[in-house]
Amino acid sequence: MNPVMVNLVGVTETDWFLTVQLQDDKIQAIVKAIEQGKADNDVKANFKVKNGRLWRITTDGDRLYVPSSAKFSLVSKHHDDIGHPGFERCLELLRKTYWFPKMRQFVHKYTASCLSCAYAKGDYGRGEGFLHPYEKRAVPFDTVHIDHLGPYLLVVIDAFTKYTLAKPTKTLSSAEAIENLRWIFGEFGYPRRIISDQGLAFTSKAFASFMAEKRHATNAVATPRTNGQVERSNRTLIEAITASAAGEARWDEQLPEILWGINHTKNASTRFSPAELLFSYQGGRVAGLSVGDNTAAEGRKRVHANRRQAGESLQKAAERMKVRYDKRRKVTTEYKAGDLVLWRQAATALREKGVNQKMANKYDGPYRVDKVLENDRYEISSLQGVRGYKRYRVVAAADALRRYQIGAFKADDGSADDSEDSERDQSGRQDLIDLLEGWPIVTLLKKFWRST
Ligand SMILES: [Zn+2]
Repeated sequence: MNPVMVNLVGVTETDWFLTVQLQDDKIQAIVKAIEQGKADNDVKANFKVKNGRLWRITTDGDRLYVPSSAKFSLVSKHHDDIGHPGFERCLELLRKTYWFPKMRQFVHKYTASCLSCAYAKGDYGRGEGFLHPYEKRAVPFDTVHIDHLGPYLLVVIDAFTKYTLAKPTKTLSSAEAIENLRWIFGEFGYPRRIISDQGLAFTSKAFASFMAEKRHATNAVATPRTNGQVERSNRTLIEAITASAAGEARWDEQLPEILWGINHTKNASTRFSPAELLFSYQGGRVAGLSVGDNTAAEGRKRVHANRRQAGESLQKAAERMKVRYDKRRKVTTEYKAGDLVLWRQAATALREKGVNQKMANKYDGPYRVDKVLENDRYEISSLQGVRGYKRYRVVAAADALRRYQIGAFKADDGSADDSEDSERDQSGRQDLIDLLEGWPIVTLLKKFWRST
């Protein structure tokens, strides 16, 4: 069966879902059996028909049964369109509303083989230094982190809920930052404390008087490692933008979707989605389809318990992070002939074509390992049919390679414990800034790829 495309225009999503269910023979057979009272006990225990739709009964509540023809499109809508969240986050998001057989495997395969993810997810060098966590309160918008990603983006992250806001900017000036923060704080309230980096925008006189005027915030200028959890949130945003820019869409146009993705998927430190903690509300990706805790009433009842629990999770995450910080060390991966890998040096090949290295992806490929050489080196060759294909064979060092194999490539999905290095964040940030600067050329290059 051909995949059914999710089309937001012209037909409401509710109708769309009903339509795809109606077109699926397997689903219609179950619906018919239930409606005619002919379903066996197993079916009756697991499925129900409600509003003309087939639902799977789970311990967490009823979930819509997704026909196999709609799986791909639906997962893509919860991955590609919202900044490429990793496997766990993507699955968790889908699970709130949907069910289909072997959903876990399907989503894993989908996310693990996403090339935009493979190109963009960072594995930067190991950092050094100590974490200096600051005292935290389990109160939304008590403490916020503000940050510039180049002159392109002003990022505001609530330290407790990890709710992330970002505004595209044109400059690094205090005036523009203040203008944007007035809008953000106007909506969410003025925080007790702002933590920023040493950027000029946040250390200027104008900024100091902006905060004095509100008598709320004290600006604790952070060392890069003041808060690993927020650095982690920052990195999630950086990776989401990078992954989206590696795809077809313009990153700035996709920013609202990317932020939606971050704010509606589970955060590794709090174990809740930022929107859930802040609003006690979980929006849906598909209009008109909200189930379970999406109804505000039940969410409100639980929000205080959730926040308490999130506060404890944050505390534990901070402790774990501190313990692990020094333990991590990099182990060289071993490959064998036939393995598929991504290669970091591929940018040089693009340079040969007269293309600026800046906008090349960090990794390119996949390539095939042809021969295992001494000293962690491998002979690899390009695969025909891969985007930007050019035939060559080359010797690459293991540390410039990354495994690419469906189901085996482990995307950093934000579900791991917070044990990340600030060095990673810093170099990821530089890569992103390079990418944003190279944007017009990226567009041209993509056109070139599409036309060849
Ligand atoms: Zn992806």
